[in-house]
Amino acid sequence: RPSRFASSFKAANLVIEQNAAPSPKPDPSTLVFGKQFSDHMLTIGWSDQDGWEAPQIKPFQNLSLHPASSVLHYSIELFEGMKAFRGVDDHIRLFRPMHNMERMHRSAERSCLPLFDKAELLECIRKLVEVDQEWVPYSQDASLYIRPTFIGIEPSLGVSRAGKAMIFVILGPVGPYFTTGSFSPVSLLADPAFVRAWRGGVGAYKMGGNYGPTIAVQNEAVQKGCQQVLWLYGEQEEITEVGTMNLFIYWTTENGEKELVTPPLDGIILPGVTRQSLLDLARSWGEFKVTERRMDMKELLGALDGGRILEVFGAGTACVVCPVGSLLYKDKTYQIPTMQNGPDLAKRFYKELTDIQYGRKQSDWAPLV
Ligand code: PMP
Repeated sequence: RPSRFASSFKAANLVIEQNAAPSPKPDPSTLVFGKQFSDHMLTIGWSDQDGWEAPQIKPFQNLSLHPASSVLHYSIELFEGMKAFRGVDDHIRLFRPMHNMERMHRSAERSCLPLFDKAELLECIRKLVEVDQEWVPYSQDASLYIRPTFIGIEPSLGVSRAGKAMIFVILGPVGPYFTTGSFSPVSLLADPAFVRAWRGGVGAYKMGGNYGPTIAVQNEAVQKGCQQVLWLYGEQEEITEVGTMNLFIYWTTENGEKELVTPPLDGIILPGVTRQSLLDLARSWGEFKVTERRMDMKELLGALDGGRILEVFGAGTACVVCPVGSLLYKDKTYQIPTMQNGPDLAKRFYKELTDIQYGRKQSDWAPLV
């Protein structure tokens, strides 16, 4: 068996070096996403020769990389995005973190990076959050963002499997996505000229290489007066995702039934933890049809025209749910009545998930740190 499938690191072997010069915590009202970091980080090294090293929690610091490191040339990189929440009871919770570990493991396999025991990585992350627990904001509008990252650091320009790799995890406090009370809708640019992911590609994996190329498209959307991109795919102009969120449409079908639709996990969709949670919740309610299927622009615009679209929203860790208010498609703006319809369903999902995350409602979806 090749050694990248060999045994995992163990959380029991964690070596912890405390930061002797901790930073002051930023004021939660001034937080900008992804710009502030906590006092510690987790690193776990791996090599073909030695396998996994003991995991280390140490003061937050720069990495030192060989300039030929494969991550820098061929994007042998993957990441995760998850959060820790300080609850009403002052306990810190994660949200379905094993889903992130499983997605990370799938991304690692697809990247030819070494495999690991998901429960051991989660335990290392839990420990890191515990060490930096004061960095979890004392607020039910903010949280501590967790960024697990996995890179190939083989010092070689050959396009081949990395024989050296490193997992690292950094943390940073993040503020509310919506300023208190306002659940404001976003406008989307839907331009079939741009494609985020394709069948046979790697859109279903959380690889850095999927994200860098989207920035120019996002800028194009902003230039056209839109806030985010609605990603279309193929001749049929299938609607796939919105920005870095999964897409949900709540509508009345031609048969007059209420239905919640989201695109299926058929290779071009990132399997979001929020997406899965909304599907699980809606199915547990049993109040309307819940369907994972493809939908294209023609069908969406037809239903809009027929007054059958109730709510369109994105779903992701950053915002939980984000209502969509309009669509710019082929130089025409289409209003989407999400806000006019409450948005009842989006708000209900938002409340359910944040109640669980902040411990206002007990759930095994939110294990204590
Ligand atoms: N789609 C894409 C392309 C994403 O990057 C993300 C963020 N991980 C999501 C959807 C939402 O996933 P999650 O609910 O796990 O944050």
